[in-house]
Amino acid sequence: MNIFDWQKPLWDQLLDHPEKLPHAMLFAGPEGVGKFAFAQALAASLLCEQKAEGNMPCGRCSSCTWLTSGNHPDFRLIRPEEGEETGSGEEETPQPAVATRKSGQGHIRVDQIRTLEDFVFVGSHRHGSRIALVEPAEMMNPSAANALLKILEEPPAGVYFILVSSNWRRLLPTVLSRCRSIIFSRPDPLLAERWLAGQGVKSAAELLCLAGGAPLIAADWAEQGRLDFYRNAVEVLAEKSPDPVAMAAKWSALIKGEQGLTLSQLVETVQKWVFDLAMMKLAGRCRYHQSWLGKLEGLAAKASSAGLLSCYNDLLRIRAVVRHPLNTQLFLEDMAARYLRALATGRT
Ligand SMILES: [Zn+2]
Repeated sequence: MNIFDWQKPLWDQLLDHPEKLPHAMLFAGPEGVGKFAFAQALAASLLCEQKAEGNMPCGRCSSCTWLTSGNHPDFRLIRPEEGEETGSGEEETPQPAVATRKSGQGHIRVDQIRTLEDFVFVGSHRHGSRIALVEPAEMMNPSAANALLKILEEPPAGVYFILVSSNWRRLLPTVLSRCRSIIFSRPDPLLAERWLAGQGVKSAAELLCLAGGAPLIAADWAEQGRLDFYRNAVEVLAEKSPDPVAMAAKWSALIKGEQGLTLSQLVETVQKWVFDLAMMKLAGRCRYHQSWLGKLEGLAAKASSAGLLSCYNDLLRIRAVVRHPLNTQLFLEDMAARYLRALATGRT
């Protein structure tokens, strides 16, 4: 159980004075920066009986052993119930950890939170800390969130709640106000690239950029061999065909097959590209597609910023319904047509 290099300053800040650690913490930040791994390591450290250097969990004591096998009596992990549809699988941990992440689309239900009542109000098994980790916290349904709120109102000593969320704005304000927010930002790109290279990831800089600076998303894509699919999807945008049907056919090929992109990932790719076009138009730089700067410049010159922003907003709306299009081909053609229209807005 370990933390990532870029998390060391935050780790030291929290663990140099463990007595000041808040009893309810919200780990908030974008996906793919290692919040969950950090939360697991923090739990392990608080429970460890022979902390190693830098307050890291030793990995050998009975507490660490129990935690790794998922049997620690003073630790609870609350997540959406298994068996529901899974999402992007974004945050992998750097080492084999308490549990592998399954970012479920299902909710965390009230009965799951109620199991924490006994856990929290009955004493510790090991006469130490007790930790409840809720992830992703925004997946608590309203009654689950209210049940948690009740527990947070009178937290017994030695109990820590760690809520992990990439969409913390969806949490109830009352829950937010009970937690100390600890913000996880995207790491310095050089540190992230070094870590990716250390994981054997090729084209680390390009992948990291495409993944918006989130190293765990980049690592996930590398592991799944997705870089070529993303490159090809972007290539279709960069080499814009005059015909939306032809563009849609090329995209269609990329979302078929087991290794291919999902429709949602394709829409996200288009969205990031249009974001970069708008940014190029407005600020002369880009965020996701450094390797395509020349193409971006050329296309942005022909479009208007209003046209690009309106297309970006369209794509936001499209993304919200992307899971269940009635007809995928028509969906793709519509997206291509909107994109091509936006590119032509500068010509008037
Ligand atoms: Zn230990």
